[in-house]
Amino acid sequence: MLRCAGSRVARLLSSRDASGDFGIATGMELEELEAQKKGLKRFDLDPPRGPFGTKDEPAIVESAFDERIVGCSGGVGDDEHDVVWFKLKKDENYECPVCTQVFQLKVVGEGGLPGAHH
Ligand SMILES: [Zn+2]
Repeated sequence: MLRCAGSRVARLLSSRDASGDFGIATGMELEELEAQKKGLKRFDLDPPRGPFGTKDEPAIVESAFDERIVGCSGGVGDDEHDVVWFKLKKDENYECPVCTQVFQLKVVGEGGLPGAHH
């Protein structure tokens, strides 16, 4: 599928100039591939479900470590926005710059930093 898209872009580029939406679409695909290469699997990083987090009652995100990557996709329906990824740290609440939802990391288990086991 990616190969098809690539050859279509190549044909377009050979017959027309290089500007246009195809360049943008290709860039996004590449970005996604890069993320996959780094081991970011979307199904492991689903945005948290539940009530919208506020400063008084942050959305709780559980983690086995002292920090983890969290994605925010806003609220439901009209409040939804493109997922924003950020690193949430223990004792450091994070406010989404897009929808102002507040997240708090809850360490379950021993904590520590990911990859610190060697
Ligand atoms: Zn958000």
